[in-house]
Amino acid sequence: MRLKTGLLGIGKIARDQHIPALAANSSFELVACASRNAKVDGVANFTDLESMLAGVPDLACVSICTPPQAHFDAALMALRAGKNVMLEKPPTATTRQIALLAEEASRCGRTLFQTWHSRFAGGVDAAREWLRTRKLVSGKIVWKEDVHFWHPGQRWIWEPGGFGVFDPGINALSVLTGLLTDEVSLERARLEFPENQQAPIAAELALRTTSGVAIAAEFDFRQKGEQSWDIELVTTSGRLTLSRGGAGLAIDGKIVSLDKGLAGEYPRLYARFAALCESRESEVDWRPFQLVADAFLVGERRIVAPHEI
Ligand code: NAP
Repeated sequence: MRLKTGLLGIGKIARDQHIPALAANSSFELVACASRNAKVDGVANFTDLESMLAGVPDLACVSICTPPQAHFDAALMALRAGKNVMLEKPPTATTRQIALLAEEASRCGRTLFQTWHSRFAGGVDAAREWLRTRKLVSGKIVWKEDVHFWHPGQRWIWEPGGFGVFDPGINALSVLTGLLTDEVSLERARLEFPENQQAPIAAELALRTTSGVAIAAEFDFRQKGEQSWDIELVTTSGRLTLSRGGAGLAIDGKIVSLDKGLAGEYPRLYARFAALCESRESEVDWRPFQLVADAFLVGERRIVAPHEI
């Protein structure tokens, strides 16, 4: 039987990825949506989660696509209503909130799938396998995109809890922490805040693995021209490059595979959610989120030119 699913927060990612991925997955049936200002054709529409839960009591799953500031209240309400929950990244606005959600899912015996979509990019599994038998020497992340192009009018990104440049940057950290067998911690950070915004527009992180390998990360929202979502890892026996957010994989400069951007990630995410619901397990990993929170804790702050949204 298909899992009746409700989608919360109908914005860019819900329309671009979640709705098509749900339609293509025979384990799910999208039956309802909740959004203050948007409606989806062919399903029951509500303006908030509470009325969706009351109006469609036989929902099995709720998939949450709102900005992170709204994740905690929604996920808690859905779990307490007995629903399985899939949660967009970044997990929540504070680190304590995701820990509490994990506890709640375990207490009520429901699935919480706290997603990192970039871990499902086409090159990531092969990259992990290639790295498994090699010794890492150094690493570099360059994640630079044009915020006006990719996040048009998204005011929430610049508000407290909106993550700023870490909204995409956390994807790089999710891939890194998902690839390495060693753990990674933050040594230093430098964050640039536009003088008129509450979240950083750029950041540089100095990370180190527990084996002592340095990994540098550069995130920037002001990139014009060519966009970069690249991770390069140098080992004693070859150099791995993940490009396009993990969709492309090259070894020593030779392309091994090249997927089409985000397109494959969401079908794989929903396949994983279906498997987790079936086995009544949760998947929660807040390490990438801790690295971002640590950057806010120890990062040196610089105030830079104002940014107009
Ligand atoms: P978006 O276009 O702004 O859509 C989010 C929707 O959530 C809004 O349209 C809004 O719809 C609803 N919402 C509920 N509470 C809100 C609040 N407090 N502030 C603003 N909107 C609120 O954002 P998005 O790009 O879809 O991103 C949503 C989440 O997906 C984020 O966590 C983001 O990191 C993640 N994500 C985005 C992308 C991407 O390419 N855009 C990719 C992967 C993941 P109503 O006004 O109708 O309620």
